[in-house]
Amino acid sequence: MTSAPGTTQASNSTPLTDLGRVWLDGSLVPIEQATVSVMDHGVLYGDGVFEGIRSYNGRVLKLKSHLDRFFESAKAIRMGLPYSADQLASAIRETLAANDRADGYIRLCATRGVGTMGLNPFLSPTPSVFIITCDIKLYPQELYDNGMKVITSSVIRNHPAALSPRIKSNNYLNNILAKIEAIDAGCLEAVMLNTQGNVAECTGDNIFIAKHGKLYTPPLHAGILEGITRNLVIDLAEGLGLEVVQTDLTQHDLYTADEMLLTGTAAEVIAVTEIDGRRIGYGENEGKPGPLTVKLNQAFRDMLAKGAPED
Ligand code: PMP
Repeated sequence: MTSAPGTTQASNSTPLTDLGRVWLDGSLVPIEQATVSVMDHGVLYGDGVFEGIRSYNGRVLKLKSHLDRFFESAKAIRMGLPYSADQLASAIRETLAANDRADGYIRLCATRGVGTMGLNPFLSPTPSVFIITCDIKLYPQELYDNGMKVITSSVIRNHPAALSPRIKSNNYLNNILAKIEAIDAGCLEAVMLNTQGNVAECTGDNIFIAKHGKLYTPPLHAGILEGITRNLVIDLAEGLGLEVVQTDLTQHDLYTADEMLLTGTAAEVIAVTEIDGRRIGYGENEGKPGPLTVKLNQAFRDMLAKGAPED
């Protein structure tokens, strides 16, 4: 039997039965019973927001930043959440404890809730909030060791005036269409450009390049999610004395970069060594994870080894 496209390379497909208990609207329930209504606007219209969070050795990395972004996403779509940030932080810890999990991925979601068939979100007064935890290894280890290849997608990242990429919404079709192109091309990630033709981000990761000893990453106005790992890596880089420039990047900048790397809660820090069939870098570093990427990855690991910061 042949496997579905992309599944042979990706290893983040935890079977349903291993997901244990889910926190759903205030109670811990077995995954099989954790259901939302077909009349929930999260299901009908992708109307909702979420966060992907991660726990390392019992500490929830950047929990405060994730909750802040969750509340901002909800505010941006005019959704009032029925819990405070402190209550959600406790619910996350409760879910981790119930599943005996010190390390893993945490998915916090809020759907608009049950409403009428029409779009009007104000007829859905009560959002449904749930928390799932699972194992995570987004990409195979070989890609962390040797770097990954990506393509540039023909799918343009959502224009901020249409649907701001700063909102981490439950509607990921824009990213999914680009991800399909990546999988069809034998890759696991795709770079998405914005309507100006500048680099925005990848389908589920932010992007950086290194050039002549400095790091460059697209600014928020390029139409990207303000990645929490992106911000963490900027801080780590500056702590290492590296200059980080947030500026518009073109496809030419990617093709001629010394190094390229992606960041994300699930991906962590990963080198990109090939884009659109072109090997990245020069001389002996061509097609290999570059020295700054290796250094940043080490700084990220060292930070986690000291105890993941939760602020
Ligand atoms: N961009 C997009 C589109 C994402 O979905 C994500 C998260 N998977 C990121 C960037 C990285 O953000 P973070 O570091 O906060 O996980």
